[in-house]
Amino acid sequence: MNTEETAPGKHFIRQIIERDVRSGKWSGRVVTRFPPEPNGYLHIGHAKSVCLNFGMAAEYGGTCHLRMDDTNPVKEELEYVEAIKEDVRWLGFDWGEHFHYASDYFEQMYKYAVELIRQGNAYVCALSSEEWKDYRGIPEKPGMESPHRNRPVDENLELFSMMRAGEFPDGAMVLRAKIDMGSPNLHMRDPVLYRILKAKHPHTDGVWCIYPTYDFAHCLEDSIEGITHSLCTLEFEVHRPLYDWILDKLGIHHPQQIEFARLNMTYTVMSKRKLINLINEGYVDGWDDPRLPTVRGMRRRGVTPASIRNFCERIGVTKYDSLTDTALLEHFIRDDLNRHATRALAVLNPVKLIIENYPEDEEEEFDAVNNPESPDAGTRKIPFGRELYIEREDFMEDPPKKYYRLAPGREVRLRYACLITCTGVKKDEVSGEIEKIYCRWDPDSRGGGAPDGRKVKGTIHWVSARHAGEADVRLYDRLFNVEEPGADNGEDYLTHINQDSLRTVKAKVEPSLMNAAAGSHIQFERLGYFYADHVNSKPGKPVFNRTATLRDQWAKKGQ
Ligand code: ATP
Ligand code: MG
Repeated sequence: MNTEETAPGKHFIRQIIERDVRSGKWSGRVVTRFPPEPNGYLHIGHAKSVCLNFGMAAEYGGTCHLRMDDTNPVKEELEYVEAIKEDVRWLGFDWGEHFHYASDYFEQMYKYAVELIRQGNAYVCALSSEEWKDYRGIPEKPGMESPHRNRPVDENLELFSMMRAGEFPDGAMVLRAKIDMGSPNLHMRDPVLYRILKAKHPHTDGVWCIYPTYDFAHCLEDSIEGITHSLCTLEFEVHRPLYDWILDKLGIHHPQQIEFARLNMTYTVMSKRKLINLINEGYVDGWDDPRLPTVRGMRRRGVTPASIRNFCERIGVTKYDSLTDTALLEHFIRDDLNRHATRALAVLNPVKLIIENYPEDEEEEFDAVNNPESPDAGTRKIPFGRELYIEREDFMEDPPKKYYRLAPGREVRLRYACLITCTGVKKDEVSGEIEKIYCRWDPDSRGGGAPDGRKVKGTIHWVSARHAGEADVRLYDRLFNVEEPGADNGEDYLTHINQDSLRTVKAKVEPSLMNAAAGSHIQFERLGYFYADHVNSKPGKPVFNRTATLRDQWAKKGQ
């Protein structure tokens, strides 16, 4: 696995753009575009492309267009368009006036096709797609010319206009570019430019029954919009000669297509087909399920836009396919949340703790720091009393040597509060499970310090039983339990689902958390980063999603 794609800073695309700006190519302008097909929601891979396209434009004083690549009429749905806009905005980017639909250029594209026919560079071909397979052949051997290749221009013009008028059924004819049947690049062997498809297009609504292919449409969209640098993923490298051929033949504005490697990540799948399958088969709860790598899923998990942008900057861009460690994204999530998330005390797996020498009818408050990384965040009061909850895992009856938390006879610090020493436990007579832990406190340690300077190694978190609220907490984990669940490209990924990817618990939380604002980020001390779910969380009835634990596996790998 390649854990480090490239050094950040001047990646090759930045270098190209910088050189072009300096040399005055495109008169120093930078115009990029992000062109999603509106047939699904955006995922972290798209985010890489969004950050790159919008990021380069912003960095060099240019503009970046948001373009719905809606040339394929059967697959697209309008609901996706709004979702894509929202996600790009949420990531922190702005297309200004440059929101476009590729389908708005259909008339212009048709005119360009007619121009190619007039030049003798395109022809109407009536071979079926089955027959064409034989004509096109294999890369090692030249293909055969279509019997319609040398149809006269006038006849081509007439047939093409009849295609547009709906006079032929689907698949009866196509418009082909007349390029080179001997080219080793199959994309250059008279590729299809237009096909007949009597399908209703959601945006042009019945006006068209012929549709341009991706290869014909994409370069024209870029040209019409005055794009300077057309950044796309590596699989389009073999299409670039066709991109260039079409624009050269038409003699129109000719952007430079530059390819970069897709983002692939461990422990997840990114193909839309697989994501849709996971949703439809009920493995997850929808496009915004926090276990998905979708932008809205990450948002609902509590991932911040800044951490995604920082991650994308860090991975940079390269020319080779690789697999990026999900731990790296998690590292940037923690890095951002560490700086901004408010701290609070919550107990996920509570057990009662009783302080024997603390009066039953008394209580007091201690000062807790809201965010040690940000002094301006101030402090808050947390209530304390005779009965507390602590984490079941923070007590062991018979602890191993290096266990510094609570155990019989051991002294620990209660975060922000005081020192306590364990005097015993009460167990359920049948199950043997510990029901209560008994302790004595040192009243002179109020605030957490040892009065005589004695060493107390362990610090644990707690909440006051009388004051605690109860909150639903969803403990999310990775959706897959192998690094490359999609490796075989088949349906095997479904056998690698992590059965423990979601566990919901009732947590005891400090009072301030009961009114946590929906959409806020909180660090539960010693446990991880949590997010007050913007869909389900209500004042007095909070729901927290775990964004990340505190264990930084990336930092641990010594990167
Ligand atoms: P799928 O193949 O799953 O349908 P797609 O790549 O065709 O996905 P588009 O909507 O066409 O999805 O993608 C929009 C833009 O996002 C394209 O420019 C594409 O290159 C880019 N993109 C998509 N996936 C990734 C990825 N994993 N890494 C980087 N860029 C990506
Ligand atoms: Mg696509």
